[in-house]
Amino acid sequence: MNRSFIVSKFGGTSMGDISSMERSATICVERNSSVIVLSATSGTTDRLIQVAKLASTGKTEDCEKLVFGIKERHQAMMNEMPQNHTGLSILHSYFTELDLLVQNISLLKELTPKAHDHILSLGERMSSLIFQQVLKTKIPNKSVVLLDARQVIKTDSNFGKATPLISEIAKNCQELKTDTVYVTQGFIGSDADGNTTILGRGGSDYSAALFAEGFGASVLEIWTDVAGIATTDPRLCPEAKIIHEISYAEAGEMAQYGAKILHPATIAPAVRKSIPVFVGSTFEKDLPGTWIKQDVENRPAVRAITKRAHQALLTISNPSMLNAYGFMGEIFGLFGKHRISVDCVTTSEISIAVTVDQTTVENEKFIQDLESVGKVIVETGYSLISLIGNDIFSQANLAKSIFSSVDEASIRMMSLGASSFNFNFLVKEEESKSCIQKLHRNLIEGKK
Ligand code: ASP
Ligand code: MG
Repeated sequence: MNRSFIVSKFGGTSMGDISSMERSATICVERNSSVIVLSATSGTTDRLIQVAKLASTGKTEDCEKLVFGIKERHQAMMNEMPQNHTGLSILHSYFTELDLLVQNISLLKELTPKAHDHILSLGERMSSLIFQQVLKTKIPNKSVVLLDARQVIKTDSNFGKATPLISEIAKNCQELKTDTVYVTQGFIGSDADGNTTILGRGGSDYSAALFAEGFGASVLEIWTDVAGIATTDPRLCPEAKIIHEISYAEAGEMAQYGAKILHPATIAPAVRKSIPVFVGSTFEKDLPGTWIKQDVENRPAVRAITKRAHQALLTISNPSMLNAYGFMGEIFGLFGKHRISVDCVTTSEISIAVTVDQTTVENEKFIQDLESVGKVIVETGYSLISLIGNDIFSQANLAKSIFSSVDEASIRMMSLGASSFNFNFLVKEEESKSCIQKLHRNLIEGKK
């Protein structure tokens, strides 16, 4: 491992305007970051998604307005920087690329997955180009290179949410110089044919972790607009506190079960290379933030509470399955076929209940497929609440405390035991907030 090789990632709000970029650049200089991975400027990815949709549905006027706004914002940011012909001409080539993509999508009235990913890549490419200029003014004597992440982050061709090819990425990282500061894009990669791909929404954290893994970085820093990972969402519970140290396993569960601060895939590359991950706010850079690492001193039974809203419960039952086999295999095969991820499962002899994101139940083909296996009942309007901690199932009193915090009757399903790091249960969306507040008070603040 390289002793002081730091990969720093900055999110959209840290890229929002030139003064935010300057604040982020100051952090890079202070930390001596070697690779800087960036998100698009705040709101730009959402706007590009809109642009692509409007173009494909022939809403030319609205589309043009949005495109104009995106260009104007980035042009204005670039104008705040010292004159730089190369930078400006690259920015304009991106504008041309955007226009061409929009024209093509409008002409064909069809948005292919390939075109979708390509158009989205422009957000990160524009922000990183401008940030390179900002960083250059702070460290004029160093070589600050704009690296096209698509040359490094190789992926499969699953557009929209491509899977990175770890060993190719590692090989590509070795070809880069260690005495250079690289500014690059999060979120994007390319497949074997050179087509642009994306890693899924919020994927810049994951990109940064892949770079950190590829370089064998000593630290991965995720800079965002909150001062670290909190015990629960402070908007739901104002008593939430920043966690200063948390294990990979717990942070991974938190990300998986709804804590918005990290993309769920971020932890795996860090774990593979034992790279400590720091999460902090660019707006309060001197606060201690959160460290995510392998071993932590304090291992409370309940460290945090997360919520995943918009959950549906699918119950599939088939009485002829009593004492038969293959029922679950068949069902999970269908989840695999439709690339749907399962969060929680409970089973009985003739039925199986599974929680999924509510959007899943709009997939008619999937529901039809499930109906070929058994009777399907769909219930919506739930939130999945997860308690995250250590050795949760060895805590004899935990269930008692949970049931005294939450009205027993309102728990629709629960799952405990698959991982010693979490305990999940499903409640009606409207009850979730008060549930979290009570649980936080009892289990984290230690008040009755
Ligand atoms: N810009 C992308 C998004 O908004 C990726 C990221 O910011 O992590 O989803
Ligand atoms: Mg993010």
